[in-house]
Amino acid sequence: AKLDRNQKTIFDRIISKEIPANIIYENDKLLAFHDVNPQAPVHFLVIPKKRIAMLDDAEDNDKDLLGELILTATKLAKEKLPGGYRLVINNGRDGCQSVFHLHVHILGGRQMKWPPG
Ligand code: 5GP
Repeated sequence: AKLDRNQKTIFDRIISKEIPANIIYENDKLLAFHDVNPQAPVHFLVIPKKRIAMLDDAEDNDKDLLGELILTATKLAKEKLPGGYRLVINNGRDGCQSVFHLHVHILGGRQMKWPPG
């Protein structure tokens, strides 16, 4: 099936509080919450409230938003994970993206492996 970039995702329903999430941080543009299926002792997501399906769809006028996304993810990560952490953005099929609303994963609390596989 072709990706419908205007399709609402589960993350829109988390933003609107239709479904619950364990929220870490929120402002007018961004939301951070714990991943429901953590891949590390600490695993949370930071998403823009604006619906951008994937990194491929980000545009020049999203520059400030993308900057805030990364800086906010980093600020939260530094607080929780002084020993280090990893930021991941999965894009498309080969990137193993499963939710088509842009999100940054923050993973830590264990030694990460490289390459990630
Ligand atoms: P992706 O594979 O698209 O990069 O990552 C999507 C992430 O969203 C996965 O790690 C998955 O566990 C998480 N996720 C999917 N549905 C929900 C949900 O309803 N609530 C929360 N908190 N996380 C979710």
